[in-house]
Amino acid sequence: MYITRKAEFSASHVCRLPSLSEEENARLFGAAAHANGHGHNYIVEVTVEGEPDPTTGMIIDLKRLKDILEEEIIEPMDHRFLNYEVPPFDRVVPTAENVASEIFRRLDRRLTGERTSPQPVGLWRVRLWETPDLYVDVESQRRGALEPAGGSPLNGR
Ligand SMILES: [Zn+2]
Repeated sequence: MYITRKAEFSASHVCRLPSLSEEENARLFGAAAHANGHGHNYIVEVTVEGEPDPTTGMIIDLKRLKDILEEEIIEPMDHRFLNYEVPPFDRVVPTAENVASEIFRRLDRRLTGERTSPQPVGLWRVRLWETPDLYVDVESQRRGALEPAGGSPLNGR
């Protein structure tokens, strides 16, 4: 089963490679390469995989998940200029793809490292909306990793 929590943050970025000329950056990244940067109201949807605890009926402590999103995304990224204030974007171009990957990495580390539920849970997907008509999905490579060792004959994944 999957449960998704949504969060929003506003941040600025500029997409350019220092090794390229002004013209090459403009050709590659378009208006996003403009040196002064520009902002987005990012929306992130975080999907956690697990089974509901038989007693509580919950996959994950949603308050805990909210706190993790606050600590790993909102607090460090909201109202920041990503290139100058949020590593690794001092050296990695903060495209929607790279920002989504960084968010996935941060949340995956927390969710696998902390006991957020009596049942095993895992980060399944991060969907990052950069604009209302563009989003990026980063999905777990550990499909089915939460299943008991040996698996079940009923699921053929
Ligand atoms: Zn942009």
